[in-house]
Amino acid sequence: MNNAIFNFNTPQNEPILGYLKDSKERKSLFEELNRLQKSNIEIPCIIGGKEYFTGDTSEVTLPHDHKKSIGKFHKVTERELDIAIKSALEAKKIWSELSWTVRASILLKAAELISTKYRSLVNAATMLGQSKNIYQSEIEAVCETIDFLKYNAFFATKIYETQPKSSFNQLNKMEFRPLEGFVFSVSPFNFTAIAANLNMAPVMMGNTTIWKPASTAILSNYYLMKIFMEAGMPAGVINFVPGKGSLIGEKVLNDPLMAGVHFTGSNDTFNHLWRQVGQNLTKYRSYPRLVGETGGKDFIFVHPSADPQEVAANAVKGAFEYQGQKCSAASRMYIPSSLWPEIKKILLDMCNDIKMGDVMDPDNYVNAVIDESAFDNITGYIEYARSSGDAEIIFGGNADKSEGYFVEPTIIETTDPYFKTMQEEIFGPVLTIWVYQDGDIDKAVEICDNTSPYGLTGAVFSKDRIAASKICEKLKYSAGNFYINDKPTGSIVGLQPFGGSRASGTNDKAGAEFNLFRWVSPRSIKETFQPATDFRYDYMSKG
Ligand code: NAD
Repeated sequence: MNNAIFNFNTPQNEPILGYLKDSKERKSLFEELNRLQKSNIEIPCIIGGKEYFTGDTSEVTLPHDHKKSIGKFHKVTERELDIAIKSALEAKKIWSELSWTVRASILLKAAELISTKYRSLVNAATMLGQSKNIYQSEIEAVCETIDFLKYNAFFATKIYETQPKSSFNQLNKMEFRPLEGFVFSVSPFNFTAIAANLNMAPVMMGNTTIWKPASTAILSNYYLMKIFMEAGMPAGVINFVPGKGSLIGEKVLNDPLMAGVHFTGSNDTFNHLWRQVGQNLTKYRSYPRLVGETGGKDFIFVHPSADPQEVAANAVKGAFEYQGQKCSAASRMYIPSSLWPEIKKILLDMCNDIKMGDVMDPDNYVNAVIDESAFDNITGYIEYARSSGDAEIIFGGNADKSEGYFVEPTIIETTDPYFKTMQEEIFGPVLTIWVYQDGDIDKAVEICDNTSPYGLTGAVFSKDRIAASKICEKLKYSAGNFYINDKPTGSIVGLQPFGGSRASGTNDKAGAEFNLFRWVSPRSIKETFQPATDFRYDYMSKG
């Protein structure tokens, strides 16, 4: 028994290691990269703590060297999905009854393992499987995952300590029950940390999950699962079911005890899942919680008072890091004509210095895009711009998929602020620029607000603080994460809770207690000390 009231302090965010030449961490990382490439790994489904080798397999390939397979993974079938649902429900009985501090301690231990023993492994798996350079992997696969785990334990404290007041003759309490059933976690390819959080946020609050990882992130996601188990996660709390999305979605969403969907990925997939839930609505025991973070068409708006050097550097980082495959990547930019010549020169000079290639060469700032369909989609947009009279490719525009899926960082200048590449999510290293006349700035801000259906991230660059504040106000629904004089990417757990509205999702703010609230169903309990003994009120005549 333990009747102490626990208090988890605000965590420190995980420090980012430098990976300088000859550093210990760089040596260890390269050993792991070399080992993994030769590992010929065989990845099973993991359900109820047991491994399932279904025999229906796909290769684990590297986006920057796609003919090379480093192993295979087994895909789930309907039979294992039945077992997964049963396991999740069975494990829930024990997991939800466990003291929440024990659940927190498992998350904190997983964070510790990733910070130390498995740091190189998590980075190497993310770098190889998802084609990320060292820095891009370190900031998210390692640091952001650790931050999510630690902050989830901390934010759970905040939720559990939220209690109503009690008045005369009564005691009032709130219990934060996990949802009645299981949670379906569906993760995207682009962030290892998101895959961790899509499971661990509901799990922290006493839920169990069925986890559908993206096939293109299978390597890092498998190791996360193994680390969670080593940290003490009991069998069946998270059930790892790689495989075909449509098969898994159809089966899992059809179960009456499906209590919530925790999703990050494209709009099309989320809309499809939402529709499926709608069709099954009368089957469910409860109204499922639908939490989904989806696409973005993120912008940088430049005020005439901005510093051209700062604008150019942040545009390059915001648009081209991780090949623009961030939901928050800068993909459209509004620049005043007075600053354009100077910004353009600096921007093109910087782009000329960008190296692209394999993740094994740390000098490569840009690596490959995730797969062939992403490559074809991105190059389709570039070709569209090339053949249009309303646009000019002012940098890059070349691509080659013979060895890896490489797309050059590409800058398009358009004369049409509503040009297709100003509106649609491309999810690749493509930045479109529209130059506005300085005198038309109010109109340009309005255009920025109404150009795209999304509302995820956006930035304003301005030395004029009043102007920045006015633009921030006018664009209040254009971005759920808004930046003043910074790039629109790189939010940090606990510091900038993340998520957008409009078509960008349900804006439940990953990395904050808002998200955790979605995974509980509170119960209010009132106890009366002296219950009523008469149905009438005193003011009524008793004579
Ligand atoms: P995706 O929609 O293609 O896939 C996401 C996941 O859904 C994958 O695991 C996939 O296998 C699964 N899936 C696909 N069809 C399914 C079905 N019918 N039933 C169940 N699962 C199904 O997205 P992606 O390509 O992995 O990720 C890129 C997208 O994610 C971009 O649009 C990006 O903007 C978005 N994203 C958003 C955020 C955010 O926080 N807003 C963060 C990262 C990525």
